Amino acid sequence: MDDRTFRNAMGKFATGVTVITSSLDGQVRGMTANAFMSVSLNPKLILISVGEKAKMNSVIQQTGKFTVNILSDQQQDLSMLFAGQLKEERNVEFNWIDGHPILPDALANILCDVDTSYIAGDHTLYIGKVTDIYMKEGDPLLFFEGKYRNIASLSNGG
Ligand code: FAD
Repeated sequence: MDDRTFRNAMGKFATGVTVITSSLDGQVRGMTANAFMSVSLNPKLILISVGEKAKMNSVIQQTGKFTVNILSDQQQDLSMLFAGQLKEERNVEFNWIDGHPILPDALANILCDVDTSYIAGDHTLYIGKVTDIYMKEGDPLLFFEGKYRNIASLSNGG
């Protein structure tokens, strides 16, 4: 099977979009990720998958902490920024909670300590032990077949 077939099949799974944030020596890094899932209720665990080339790996490995920020449909520009899809640099404001940089106005900020990590092929899976959660009302940013969507466009057939 070629890579395109695999990617196309994975793109049939509609997801939300998150930005993973972490900081080292006061420098914040953000990375867009849709490979996110809830794992366990007791204890409360979640999982993210980070590509081997992502700079985010060394930050998470050194700090042992990260936050999953679940984006609203008003935050597509942040998804594009933290995926390296925008050419210009931007100054992003973060809020800080217990040493975690979090994105304001995200639908949820899920603060985690790394519980375990596993190398799986060309990605590393990080299981995060959830230490705190903040939530806001709003509609989610969606990703399906390689394109951003929102609930309104889907219900209008878009
Ligand atoms: P970089 O490439 O260094 O950073 C990404 C961008 O964020 C750069 O443009 C950088 O300038 C900017 N940036 C970082 N920190 C800041 C800051 N503090 N202030 C302002 N700008 C900043 N990859 C995965 O590994 N796993 C996934 O689950 C995943 N899901 C994705 C889902 C979607 C919808 C998209 C579009 C991409 C996804 N990617 C995923 C790809 C991933 O987002 C990119 O490969 C990303 O560029 C890799 O991040 P990096 O750590 O190497 O950071």
